[in-house]
Amino acid sequence: MPQFSHNFSKYIYLPSGGLSYPPDAWLKPLTSELIYLYYDNFANTNFEYMLQILQEFTKLPIDIAELYTPDFYYLWYIIKSQEMINKSYEYKELNCSKCKTENKVLIDFTQFKIRMNNTNINMLKVVIDEYTFTIRLRKVKDNLRFPYQTLSNNNSINQFQQYCLQQVVNVKTDLYGEVERIYFNSIINSLSLQQILDLYNNIVEYNKIFGIYDNLEFICKKCGEINIYSLFNDLSNSNITMIMGSSDFDKKEHYKSLLSLLQMKLFSIENLMSVQYKNFGNFSDAMNEIELIPNGPMM
Ligand SMILES: [Zn+2]
Repeated sequence: MPQFSHNFSKYIYLPSGGLSYPPDAWLKPLTSELIYLYYDNFANTNFEYMLQILQEFTKLPIDIAELYTPDFYYLWYIIKSQEMINKSYEYKELNCSKCKTENKVLIDFTQFKIRMNNTNINMLKVVIDEYTFTIRLRKVKDNLRFPYQTLSNNNSINQFQQYCLQQVVNVKTDLYGEVERIYFNSIINSLSLQQILDLYNNIVEYNKIFGIYDNLEFICKKCGEINIYSLFNDLSNSNITMIMGSSDFDKKEHYKSLLSLLQMKLFSIENLMSVQYKNFGNFSDAMNEIELIPNGPMM
């Protein structure tokens, strides 16, 4: 009955490349617990959901809260690609930024390029008016804390302010030199919408010096708008309103991929029979949609 009697781990070299912690991580074999974590987790955000899965299946050189988010997403990407062994794509439902129509977008996991870090710079300086902000790379703990700090005031400018604030390590003014930390909040709040968006865009670009390069686009089927999006966007992934796996479509697609694993004998039937009752509808829809092939893997 146990399909995973082996317990080897796979070595993973983290894209940060030893910038501020050792670059060595390990991925444990994916077991049936993954199914439970997918749909019976207690995450409030998409990011927390990924974190629960990474905590279960990875061994890291430091506490996961201190990991840079590009390393985090890289590990997530590897788990996704292991789970999708016999296909390289999946569909996501994304809303058009202009007309809000839902589009079913094909995401090809083979198209991503990975950048390994080749600098030793882990701070960015951004000058806005009389202020010079020193910004560090985004860490997992920033994405965990951020959504709860915006709960009482969820307007979009406050979201960008709180988002940026997480990564500010130092502020200097031309006139007074270094500013005390207790004033960071009011300085950030004093910036105009355009200034805070500039700061935000600088931070997001800076965070792409290593990791998965995932600037993607889709054309809206209704209005023709070209939408640029990023699958591993920290702001949208740590937004409390966005919980992955909430749609029936996502659940059904997930079960289809598990059923394909079953066909490749990577999963036992017992694993699948333990599907939670509340998801059984999605499971039987998936059963109806896959092609059962008696021998060998599906193409
Ligand atoms: Zn549209």
